[in-house]
Amino acid sequence: MKLDAHWMPFTANKAFKANPRMLASASGMYWTSGEGARILDMTAGLWCSNLGHGRESVARAMYEASVNLDYAPSFGFGHDASFTLAERLAALAPGDLNHVFFTNSGSESVDTALKMAIAYQSARGLGSKRMFISRERAYHGVNMGGTTVGGITTNTRTFGRWAPVDHLHSTLDIERNAFSKGLPDFGADRAEELEQLILLHGAENIAGVIVEPIAGAGGVIIPPKGYLKRLREICDAHDVLLILDEVVCGFGRTGSFTAGIEFDILPDLFTVAKGLTSGTVPMGAVFCRSGIHDTIMASAEGIEFFHGYTYSAHPIACAAAHACLDIYEEEGLFTRVNEGIGKYFEHVLHNLKDLPEIIDIRNYGLLGAIEFADQGSEAPVGVRVFQEAWKQGVMLRGLGNIVVMSPPLVAEESHIDEFAEKIWRSIRTVT
Ligand code: PLP
Repeated sequence: MKLDAHWMPFTANKAFKANPRMLASASGMYWTSGEGARILDMTAGLWCSNLGHGRESVARAMYEASVNLDYAPSFGFGHDASFTLAERLAALAPGDLNHVFFTNSGSESVDTALKMAIAYQSARGLGSKRMFISRERAYHGVNMGGTTVGGITTNTRTFGRWAPVDHLHSTLDIERNAFSKGLPDFGADRAEELEQLILLHGAENIAGVIVEPIAGAGGVIIPPKGYLKRLREICDAHDVLLILDEVVCGFGRTGSFTAGIEFDILPDLFTVAKGLTSGTVPMGAVFCRSGIHDTIMASAEGIEFFHGYTYSAHPIACAAAHACLDIYEEEGLFTRVNEGIGKYFEHVLHNLKDLPEIIDIRNYGLLGAIEFADQGSEAPVGVRVFQEAWKQGVMLRGLGNIVVMSPPLVAEESHIDEFAEKIWRSIRTVT
């Protein structure tokens, strides 16, 4: 097969095309590779296939929606499934996060949330509040807003930052917190830096703060105990919005519907995607508190928010999301992580501690990371472990010197055992 025409995203194209890893099909917890090998999915694809693969009720719902209403324009027209979905989602969200704006991806959700924050500040006469504070090692997608607030240098260096932004330090502190299980003990004081940045730039210039509750693509960085609560308090004290990017954490990954609920933080806005449709079809959403929504609604007589996508609330995506929500609810998947499988995963992961070169293992819910010492090699250890794991029959994600795991929420202990055996062999082979 010719591979040249497809310019692949976030991929070392030349290396991939010289040595491709092809996926042919998927079912339950497994992929089948192009060569017919069975590959255990320990990443839920890209943190998204929370329900495992090939769920028939979701496929059926998408087919039926497609036959009945293959498309509905969302500017000035509506269809039932988007309103019922928004209502269902709002009922799951905490507090008065009662309004849901549909997008098609996490990147679109982030840019939508940033624009909502600016629109809100402007609607209440505070048009100078346009700056954002985010955090080093943050991943907020790849659109210009997300690129601007992003904190992973490789993703931003070439493109620059298109709006005023400043960054908190990352909370990763391997010296003090190595091998923590769950929330690390040290580092809540790093939240105080937010106050300094707000004073430096002036609260009158800051629209909001955006953070991932647990940073995913930055290397599964778990917030220290008390850190997020302190961010919330500082935002409140200075009249700055708090946006939680729940694109990875949402939909049960931490043991609650959202990490905000898990950690008892009420954001002003939060973003989701991925788990909303369990990766089956692109869809994202932004949840918004009533006060923000109502202020923007009251600000204009015609179109209140000049923003939206051709495929916002696409009927097939809405049908998929409804069918996924049915499964999450029927199988208790928002909280399943707390019912043993999360602890089992933690136990198995930390048992790898004595393998060579490992400097940290961290986890929360069904998110985990193993970090290796930097060996200065051209291909970092995490990437080599990931490549070897593929040969062994398990899909991991290699991020520099880190490998990360985020298995589907339907994983059983037997899958975690299989993972343990294969990653053990992969690390032994590579280090
Ligand atoms: N925000 C976070 C926290 C993410 O992890 C991601 C993707 O991994 C995104 C936003 C972007 O999502 P998408 O790739 O769907 O645009």
